[in-house]
Amino acid sequence: MRSAATIQHEYEMRHEEGMSDAHCHINLFDDPQAVVNSARESGVKTIVTAGGNLKDNLAVDRITSQLNIFGVIGIGPDVAAIEEHEIEKLKKTISQNKYIVGIGEVGLDFKISQDPDNIAAQKEVFIKQIELSRELDVPLVIHARKAIREVIGILIDESVEKAMFHFFEGGLDEARIAEKNGYLISIPPLHSAKRRRVIENVEIGTLVAETDAPVAGSIPNDVKKSIEYIAQIKGMSIDDVARKTSENVREFFYI
Ligand SMILES: [Zn+2]
Repeated sequence: MRSAATIQHEYEMRHEEGMSDAHCHINLFDDPQAVVNSARESGVKTIVTAGGNLKDNLAVDRITSQLNIFGVIGIGPDVAAIEEHEIEKLKKTISQNKYIVGIGEVGLDFKISQDPDNIAAQKEVFIKQIELSRELDVPLVIHARKAIREVIGILIDESVEKAMFHFFEGGLDEARIAEKNGYLISIPPLHSAKRRRVIENVEIGTLVAETDAPVAGSIPNDVKKSIEYIAQIKGMSIDDVARKTSENVREFFYI
């Protein structure tokens, strides 16, 4: 089994100063190589691309090693009811591909369905992947839509230590609970009063920046907008926020 120390050593030579996009979907672009090149040129040195269903997981497995970027794979809530059998495959891929550094995006999405059977399937698949993250000693990248309280409750019940809330949509109360439990809050390049309050009131050590590109930001280069937003609210320099959020990403994923 890969230990955190081994992995850190493996990647030691690959650390570069710069910004980090903690969450995006590089495989959804027509030309992933061009997108990654452009990101690197604009100073985004660390990229974590996310899967979440069978098709995307296969693509993440392929492009991470090709493009020298990191990735996470998982069975997301939107496909939980139909791709549950894929969990075994995750284990094999994570063990074999050293660029795959976590399980994600996984969690609950009550916007997708209100149907009790679907929600039960989402919960079952989420908990199975929490168990897998424990077995493999890798962190979880969380998707929680209209379900933040439920997700935090499950993480705490399951004694999860490492979770990153991708595209955090909770309010201050949820942010404080997440922070208290050592979870990371990921900030997309979108402004809102609720997000501002969260950024204002949690420590910089709790925050990372993401684009969710091509979903929220159009390309990973836009992570600069998330970093600028945090810097402006916290009264920090852009460089300091870039450095600190990058450190948080690397520490979280053991990279
Ligand atoms: Zn995403």
